[in-house]
Amino acid sequence: MTTYACPMDPDVIKDAPGNCPKCGMKLVPLISSEHEGHEDHASMEQEFRKRFFITLPFVVLTMLLSPNIQKWLYISLVFNGRELLLFIIGTFIFFFGGIPFFRAAKGELSHKNPGMMTLVALAITVGYTFSVAATFLFPGESLYWEISTLISVFLLGHWLEMRAVRGTTGALAELAKLIPPSAHLLKNGTTVDIKTSEVGKGDKVLVKPGEKIPVDGVVVEGESSVNESMVTGESRPITKIKGDKVIGGTMNQDGSLTIEVTKTGADTAISQIMKLISEAQASKPNVQHLADRAAGILFYVAVIAGFSSFFFWFFITPVGAVFAATVAVAAIVVACPHALGLAIPTVTTITSTLGAKNGILIKDMKGLEIARKIDYVVFDKTGTLTRGEFGVDKIVKAKNSSFSEDELLMLAASVEMKSQHSIARGIVNEAKRRKSTIPEVSSFKSFPGRGAQGKVGEKSVIIGNKKLLGELKIETEDLEETSQGKTPVYIVVNNVFQAVVYLADIIREESKNAISRLHEMGIKTAMLTGDTQDVAEAVGKELQVDTIFAQVLPEDKVNKVKQLQQQRHIVAMVGDGVNDAPSLTQAHVGIAIGAGTDVAVESADIVLMKNNPLDVVKAISLSRKTNSKMVQNLIWATGYNVFAIPIAAGILYPSFGILLKPEWAALFMSASSIIVVINALLLRKAKL
Ligand code: ADP
Ligand code: MG
Repeated sequence: MTTYACPMDPDVIKDAPGNCPKCGMKLVPLISSEHEGHEDHASMEQEFRKRFFITLPFVVLTMLLSPNIQKWLYISLVFNGRELLLFIIGTFIFFFGGIPFFRAAKGELSHKNPGMMTLVALAITVGYTFSVAATFLFPGESLYWEISTLISVFLLGHWLEMRAVRGTTGALAELAKLIPPSAHLLKNGTTVDIKTSEVGKGDKVLVKPGEKIPVDGVVVEGESSVNESMVTGESRPITKIKGDKVIGGTMNQDGSLTIEVTKTGADTAISQIMKLISEAQASKPNVQHLADRAAGILFYVAVIAGFSSFFFWFFITPVGAVFAATVAVAAIVVACPHALGLAIPTVTTITSTLGAKNGILIKDMKGLEIARKIDYVVFDKTGTLTRGEFGVDKIVKAKNSSFSEDELLMLAASVEMKSQHSIARGIVNEAKRRKSTIPEVSSFKSFPGRGAQGKVGEKSVIIGNKKLLGELKIETEDLEETSQGKTPVYIVVNNVFQAVVYLADIIREESKNAISRLHEMGIKTAMLTGDTQDVAEAVGKELQVDTIFAQVLPEDKVNKVKQLQQQRHIVAMVGDGVNDAPSLTQAHVGIAIGAGTDVAVESADIVLMKNNPLDVVKAISLSRKTNSKMVQNLIWATGYNVFAIPIAAGILYPSFGILLKPEWAALFMSASSIIVVINALLLRKAKL
């Protein structure tokens, strides 16, 4: 059974998934149980181990009792009832060692999905039945020692494999461990230690140097640097002073911080990330379906190979029943499509963990799967390629304006206080810088991608771009002074145009690098913005993007993506805003940057934790690496059968005398699974 624990309070442990009764947060599985619907790996691992060691001495005994082995060892243990003793020991091994396989086979059959375990069960049953018949019904050599060693190797193989698979899961448990179990709550000037799950919104907690920050919050006192790499992938420590946000689970370094809690339980960044990762691990890439189909086919190939080789050797050649049965068992064993079942899931679990460690959250494996084929990346401009931190460059007043610059800025800021746009923030900040008091606005209305309006006292104020003024039929005058490459925003008071505010944004340092890296990879780039052609071209030239789409209304952004798709491009869209959400969904791969707005995160396939366009390059490289691992694993897992099945069926026996004994077949089968897992594990070391 998988157990589930609350990431905030490790004392809460449940047998079933659900929400924590204390804090309401989603419980996380302590050990993930993704693959093949197996029970959870840790207890299965224990089970295989236990049965392996208990049966091992008996397996050795059956070997010693076998005439063949005795011949090889030049010993002789012949006594009356030897066959009967072999039967008793063999039966014990068959049932005791075989139980996990029978149980799993039953599960597979009840799901009408016969696979690996059904084949193992079939192989050992065929071998055992044959041996019993040879003991009691007809004079012949039994296969007890072969079947016993086969079971032993299977137990060993599964034990080792589960151990390896366990290494590929556990990303969630790792994240859950980031949250410290207790926090120092500040109360009446002293601190009380309480459980992290009992911390409430608005509480103040103290974080001492070298301690982990327990919950999301804002610094109210103190100064320190914080290592946020576990959440954002950013390795440099970030300086935190009063007013800065901190994330639960990150590591406080040199100073003490007093934090006011803003989010608890399911709302915290860590829980959001855990939610995304568990979604990702549940999502299957398309190759998974291919692998599942191949595994299904292989089941029948194995059964047919087994039975036809039995009949071939039994009837057509005079080698005899023992030989025929041995060959049949070997053929069934070797064809077990276990490696195929592991080929994809082991890679995807590692990929999502590796991604998370690099600040790349994969929400949908299908998105990551296509990402390697991307040949066009469309970037939103504001907030993605640029920082989205506008500063006021200058204000140019209309000739007849009777207001002062500061008055106009104050009126504009009063409307913009209600807007979420980065331009709005720029204007508000400038007004504050000029020490204006910003009055309250009423009847606020926002025009997405154009601007906003509202009433400030008796005055109606409109602030927005030329498009908005055109729509509202407000005349502007041509100003003598302009500001090349800066974003113009128009201020209108009582339906009369008053001034243009020119704002400038800063291009992110990494943007240029990201674009040129994409070009090196043979990928074209486009920039998409609602800003003016002039500004778009200035930024576009600086960054050398191939295509510029400017003055695009939010509702039209999605059409630009469609347009590229119609030209048969595989398109990725990178954006952060609410107005990017439809294009993120439309694109083949939607990438939300900087953990963006919730809507953008919802619509994306991949979420980048940092505000770094270079991570787009990393995500594509992760996709390419993941894909080649998957292909390698698939080729190995299927290709191995092409050689192994005919050899096990005895094709080399007539001419070369080469035959695969069942226990060797089992060894190969287990080895091929372990190789697949190890190959996947190598991805952990990959540099993006
Ligand atoms: P982007 O595509 O660059 O993220 P938007 O589509 O959100 O930009 O906005 C496009 C343009 O609309 C902006 O460049 C600006 O001129 C105008 N605009 C949008 N919202 C506002 C606002 N709150 N105040 C002023 N202008 C705005
Ligand atoms: Mg934007």
